[in-house]
Amino acid sequence: MARLRLQHDDQQTEAECADCGSAFRSVVGVIYEDDDPIAIYRADIFDHFHRDPEPRVLLSIAMGDWDDGTGSADRCSAAIEAWPDDGGVRMAISDRAASPWDELEVVSWQLTAKEAAVSPLRDAFFQIADHIAYQDRRLRRALTVQDAS
Ligand SMILES: [Zn+2]
Repeated sequence: MARLRLQHDDQQTEAECADCGSAFRSVVGVIYEDDDPIAIYRADIFDHFHRDPEPRVLLSIAMGDWDDGTGSADRCSAAIEAWPDDGGVRMAISDRAASPWDELEVVSWQLTAKEAAVSPLRDAFFQIADHIAYQDRRLRRALTVQDAS
């Protein structure tokens, strides 16, 4: 992929996990390759991830063709968890993520962790996730917290 560029507004929503009550903030953004949008994403930022004391960011990324005349069949999604680790950021494809895309009908399917092991899309998703993790300053605090231990 060529030059990736990230664009976002300043909107932020707050919610609580229906399961454990953890509070999290959600932000959204768009990734462009040159002048073409290639992905939209939502980042759920947990200061404490569910029952875990550690911070974690859950990225829901929808990637594909967004031109006029395209539909959900031209796009797919992946959920990637990101967390600070040893001065860097670790990431993993997640199956447990609740995808925000179903309601929006923007994608036709979600890459599972099992599929990701053999799919060529894996690298593209991780490249985008990497760009978000390092370029979206709203995630910085959650992704740079040092392990207290
Ligand atoms: Zn929870």
